[in-house]
Amino acid sequence: MEMTKVRVEIVVIRGGTALVGPTLRPLEDAVLIIEDGLIAELGAASSVAIPEGAVIVDASGMTLVPGFIDAHVHIEFADPAEVLAGGVTTVRDLAWPPESIWPLAERSRDPGFEGPLIVAAGQMLTTEGGYPTRAGWAPEGTGLVVAAPEDAAAAVDAQADAGASVIKVGLNSAVGPTLDLETLRAIVDAANTRDLAVTGHVDNIEQLEKALDAGMTELAHMLLGGERIPDEGIERMVRAGMTVVPTLSILAGPELEAAVDNLARFRAAGGSVVYGTDLGNAGPRPGIDPTEVAAMTAAGMSLHDILVSATVDAGALLGLDGVGTLSEGMAADIVALGGAPLADPGDLTDVQMVWRRGRRAR
Ligand SMILES: [Zn+2]
Repeated sequence: MEMTKVRVEIVVIRGGTALVGPTLRPLEDAVLIIEDGLIAELGAASSVAIPEGAVIVDASGMTLVPGFIDAHVHIEFADPAEVLAGGVTTVRDLAWPPESIWPLAERSRDPGFEGPLIVAAGQMLTTEGGYPTRAGWAPEGTGLVVAAPEDAAAAVDAQADAGASVIKVGLNSAVGPTLDLETLRAIVDAANTRDLAVTGHVDNIEQLEKALDAGMTELAHMLLGGERIPDEGIERMVRAGMTVVPTLSILAGPELEAAVDNLARFRAAGGSVVYGTDLGNAGPRPGIDPTEVAAMTAAGMSLHDILVSATVDAGALLGLDGVGTLSEGMAADIVALGGAPLADPGDLTDVQMVWRRGRRAR
């Protein structure tokens, strides 16, 4: 049998400023070597030798950041290729029918997939007639009814067995009945048994208190209905180790103002915030979203904070070890942004080039 030597393509991105490691430390005139889908080497131009025959990409004047992670999307409303080209290299889908989302998530693991890596919650657990079973946007099967506490484990296991990275519950009292505390607690316990956290679509303070009583540790967006969470409530969320994925871009007017104020105080109290947009549903166009960035800025987050929330902290929340920072050995999920994204919000959303697992997508 004749052996053919497979030549592995090596890509070198050089000339830009890379924001390196979990602190996003700026490294000027960086050289980044991509091999086999990973960041093989990353250092200053003076210290890294460029391999012979490598494909060289000039990123002069640009800033290299980890690919964005959007922790709240409904990916099948969007074109995955457009999402990826917009600088988002990983997404977490928060509710879709299983027969469609799991095959798509599986396909997305292939580095050649024309879109971001997709992790998912599967179905949203809810009560009979509760959100999203009657929501106009949600195809049949997006929600799964958990009628009683004894049904919780089977419902959670169905998502976990399919590969869920989180369990989502619907607690929207404005549009229908909601899960009672006992059933919600049984869902959280079953999820924790499977090493999964529970995130929720939560509309008001009453539902938030129930979520905390049940042991939930994440909100899939800040409260929707415009209520001001009292400071004691904010402190309770922080003590419970809750993470908030704000998805502020779906709100407007007084609801947005209240959500920004709640987020500002949650953040000031030490609460953990991870970037998410509800892309595809009520959310914005594919890519890094200027509206979300502006609203997070209004809540007192610096551009550095926002970038950390969309990369380092989002990777940790999703439990994805190999993504979220530019470091040697990490996935080559890289976005080249124009100019100075930590100084100018316009630059933070100015996507020039994108690689996912070392494959150029833009
Ligand atoms: Zn959503």
